[in-house]
Amino acid sequence: MLMSTWAWAQLPRLNLTQVTSHTYYAEGLSALGSPLNQNFISNAGVVVAPEGVVVIDALGSPALAERLIDEIKIITDKPIRYVIITHYHADHVYGLQAFRDVGATIIAQEKGRIYLNSDTAKQRLEVSREALAPWINAATELQAADQWVQEDQSMMLAGWQFDLFKVGPAHTPDDLAIYVPQESVLFAGDLMFQGRIPFVGNANSAGWIESLEQLLKVDPAVVIPGHGPHSTNPAEDLKFTRDYIQFLRDSLYDAARDLEDFDQTYKNIDWSNYEEVPLFDAANRMNAYNVFLSIQTE
Ligand SMILES: [Zn+2]
Repeated sequence: MLMSTWAWAQLPRLNLTQVTSHTYYAEGLSALGSPLNQNFISNAGVVVAPEGVVVIDALGSPALAERLIDEIKIITDKPIRYVIITHYHADHVYGLQAFRDVGATIIAQEKGRIYLNSDTAKQRLEVSREALAPWINAATELQAADQWVQEDQSMMLAGWQFDLFKVGPAHTPDDLAIYVPQESVLFAGDLMFQGRIPFVGNANSAGWIESLEQLLKVDPAVVIPGHGPHSTNPAEDLKFTRDYIQFLRDSLYDAARDLEDFDQTYKNIDWSNYEEVPLFDAANRMNAYNVFLSIQTE
């Protein structure tokens, strides 16, 4: 490793926050991935089940994943048995190989295979090897899952039931949400954002709304999202994201269908309900543009 001692001293802390009796998570920074933060920009969940640990998402670099594994060892001596991936975005999966090295079984939604075999995935990794060196380097490889989830299903993992919901295509084609009934905790991946404007990306906005309706019916006590703090008011926070995506669709639908000019359409929309929400300036216009395009492909 080439990082200086100074840079090491700058690394962000990685702490586990306990949310229920057996569930914890590490909260990533609200930042862009960089060598100084080891790409620590997403969350990872930790469920200490009776017969082992189940991790949700693998963090953004192998080095970070190793730090998470060290933190897990502080709270339990049980082995890490499974890692479940909420979607194959770089910041959620680049740490996977560290979990494979400790013998964990990787579970993901079947559409992740399409991403893994795509040029986008290869190009993204090449760029990251430069931009996030030395944390992402020639030894960092994308990891296929050992088990691919094809439909909603309940699985017994390490002695507990885990309900897996195939909620993509929404934020990505391969979204997977995970509910742990024993703890009443839902891991929503990037389907829920609270206290900030969501990152919509190249999403399926209609599918996203449908999936949020499905997750509202799960009625969990706690939601741990892919980014930002956990929610103890899931109904409100899930509805916030749903209503935002719905507002984008309702405001843009006719203009997108009629192939009207995006800039003019955007200007004519009354954004006052969302203008004060954090990250509005950074994300809203791009979100609107992506939804505008997605409506045209429906
Ligand atoms: Zn994410």
